[in-house]
Parts: sequence; C-alpha cells; structure tokens
Amino acid sequence: MSDITKYLLPEEMLPKAWYNLAADLPVPLAPPLHPGTGQPIGPDDLAPIFPMAVILQEVSTERWIDIPEPVREVYRLWRPSPLVRARRLEKALDTPARIYFKYEGVSPAGSHKPNTAVPQAFYNKHEGVKRLSTETGAGQWGSSLAFAGSLFGLEVEVFMVKISYEQKPYRRALMETYGAKCIPSPSPLTASGRAILERDPESNGSLGIAISEAVEIAAGRDDTKYALGSVLNHVCLHQTVIGEEAIRQMEMAGDSPDVVIACTGGGSNFAGLAFPYLREKLKGAALRVVAVEPASCPSLTRGTYAYDFGDTGHLTPLVRMHTLGSTFMPPGSHAGGLRYHGMAPIVSHVKELGLIEARAYHQTECFAAAVTFARNEGIVPAPESSHAVKAAVDEALVAKAEGKPRTILFNLSGHGHFDMQAYTDYFAGKLTDLAYDEGELARALHGLPTVG
Ligand SMILES: *Cc1c(COP(=O)(O)O)cnc(C)c1O
Repeated sequence: MSDITKYLLPEEMLPKAWYNLAADLPVPLAPPLHPGTGQPIGPDDLAPIFPMAVILQEVSTERWIDIPEPVREVYRLWRPSPLVRARRLEKALDTPARIYFKYEGVSPAGSHKPNTAVPQAFYNKHEGVKRLSTETGAGQWGSSLAFAGSLFGLEVEVFMVKISYEQKPYRRALMETYGAKCIPSPSPLTASGRAILERDPESNGSLGIAISEAVEIAAGRDDTKYALGSVLNHVCLHQTVIGEEAIRQMEMAGDSPDVVIACTGGGSNFAGLAFPYLREKLKGAALRVVAVEPASCPSLTRGTYAYDFGDTGHLTPLVRMHTLGSTFMPPGSHAGGLRYHGMAPIVSHVKELGLIEARAYHQTECFAAAVTFARNEGIVPAPESSHAVKAAVDEALVAKAEGKPRTILFNLSGHGHFDMQAYTDYFAGKLTDLAYDEGELARALHGLPTVG
C-alpha cells in the first residue's frame, strides 16, 4: 500500500476551464427578478454594477467556460492546491475511513476566495473599470479582493462589518497592505449606512448592510463596479477549479469519494468542490454530497425557499434561495464567513432537487473537531472550515461504528491564522452555542417579499 500523503498536480495541469453546473441541471434555475416590477431581470439591469463578462457568466448555460490566460497566470502563484490524505487524523479516530482534504489555505489571502477575486478583478480591468467596491464580514473576502485589485491595478474600497473592523485589526492591515481602503459599516458615506445609523448609532453592522453600502457606491459612480465574494452563479463557477483539481488528484490516489463535504456561508467553496462531483453524480456516480452550516445561522436547514433580497437595504434583485429573511441578524459567532441570511440560489436549487444533503452544527463541537485536526494534521482550520472538519470526523466515526471503510473528501476552505482570538476564546471556555432568536426569525421571514 502506498503511503503518499500529499497529491500535488504539476502547474501544467491547472484546469483550463471552469465547470458550469447550470449546463447539466435537470431543472433550470429560477430567474432573478426585478424588485420593482417582479419581472425577470436582464443583463442591462446588472450592467451598472457588474462588468458584462461577469453578467454573461451569471446567466450562462455553457458547460465549460475558458479561464483567461492572465487569470491562470495569477492562479499559478498558489494553484494547483494540494490534496492531502489525513492519515494521522484517521489513526487518531481509529477509523477504517480514508479521509482526504483539499487545502485552499495555501492562497495568499489564506482561503478559497482569491479563486474568484482574481477573475473578477481581471474582467473589470479588461472593461475599463477603475475602482471596485465590496463588503466583507470577517475580512477574508475584502483581503482577497484587495490582493486581486493590487495585481490588476484597481482601487478597492471595502465596507467591513463594524464589529469585525473593531475585532480583527490584522485583516484590516492585510487589506491596507494590498493597497485597499477599509471603511467600517454602517458608515455615513452612503444613504443605506446613514439610515441604519439614524435608527441605531451603535449598530454593529451586518453583511446585508455592508452589501447595501457597497452596491450603492458602485451604482452611483461610472468608474466603479461592485464585486461579490459568494452566492452568485459566477462566483460558484470560478470556484470549480477546486473540484476539477480534486477529481484529478483523487485519481492519482487511486480512490474516489463516497462522500464530499464542505461548509456553506454563501455557498461558494461548497460549490467549488461539490459541483464537479455533482456532474459525476448526475451521470450515475454513487456519492453523497453534504453541505455544513452553523446552527446559529441555518439557512439551508431551517430557512424558507423563496424569493428574497440579497441585502438588508433592498437594493439587489430578488433571488430564489433558502433564506432566513434579509433583515435577520444572526447571533455573533466566530465563523463570520458563515453569517449570511441566504444561500447561493444554485446551491439552494440542488438542495431542493435532492442532490445534496445539509446539516448544521454548533460552534463548540466544530472547534473541538478543529483542535483534534490541528493536533494531528498541523493545520489550524478557519472557524468556517471547522464545520466541514466536524462533518468529516462524524462520517469517519460512523464508518468506525459500522466497521466499514468509506472515502471522505472535504474542503479545508482556509486556515485560521487571522482568527486565533476564536481559539483563545474557545480554550478559555468563553464560546457558547448561541441559538438564534425564534421570534426574530419569524419576524424576518414575515417580511419576505410577496413575488414569484
Ligand atoms: C468566506 C469563507 C467561507 C464561507 O463562504 P462560502 O461562500 O460559503 O464558501 C468559508 N470558509 C472560509 C475560509 C471563508 O473565508
């Protein structure tokens, strides 16, 4: 038996195309709707905020979309990313399961997010855009776009959820190192921000509010476009380099997954690993695909499947997704990247079609799994990624209980080096498993728009 630990692809095997699951869906996606008219929106409606190349990808049903060479050139700074067999974790769990993880923490920003930040910056630059505005929660997306903007000579302005801005000064410093400007949100710079501050000057902010601010800035200036780090089809598309590489690496290992696992905030790292495998599943491959979310913000497992706004200020189109309501404020948790009220429409769609499973975990059990992982494999998982680690450990323990091997593949979407406060709090016993407020959820769901 081979004892290989890392499966590394040579640079020339970096994928040449992204995989578009929309081409193979048994039922097409519901279209986004204009919030004013309730009619499906067209490319022109999105043109003020996104470059045309990105809009066309958003609605494309082509199976393969070429990765531009300048994007592949940047990808080569850290891609192909490693596939690792977690042999020491397997031993520690005393499981007959084989556990593999795809490690996206090797990117400059420390997570999968540069996989889409780089092409988005490239397409904007190509179409003559000068500035990008965006939002960031925990700071991973802001730093990824700041990095991509610096490579393509774009100014980047990041609205950072205020509580994170205050709690995560190193993320802010990283964005500034890449040359971006970071503004705490809600801010007095936009009407959406001012409206929130008027009602609550002490507001901690939320992803939904920060999105409103960033969209407002892009819509109001000709030289500025908006970039989103998750949720949308083109973002899920760009992330499929993860799964395309993983398929080749699992072949190198002479193995194939029985279960594919990733955490879900807006759904993009999940889509990235899972969609290429869903293509194989739709062709008949026997495998399960599991999305893992926090119990404190459980859009896929507890949300309503309905048309809703992507932001709190209601500036975005309506998209059909699993949602907790656009005004839902999840309780604070350290997995900031998973605190979004909705789920990618295409991930919600495959859940409705029964192609994937979803489950939710509390944060302390995820940190416990992450610590076990770190003590055996060395890598400290991002708090978000710890949800995938926990699900992989549980699958391995089921295999042990059944006394049957199974092959588990999960996405380690990022490392936790900027989130060590979370681990400090965990070891100090300060982390609690906050439940969301049922009344608050009911109120937020009651406010769902009545269209579609
Ligand atoms: C942002 C982030 C996530 C959540 O976003 P998705 O779009 O659901 O992937 C997960 N893991 C890490 C490390 C992140 O930075």
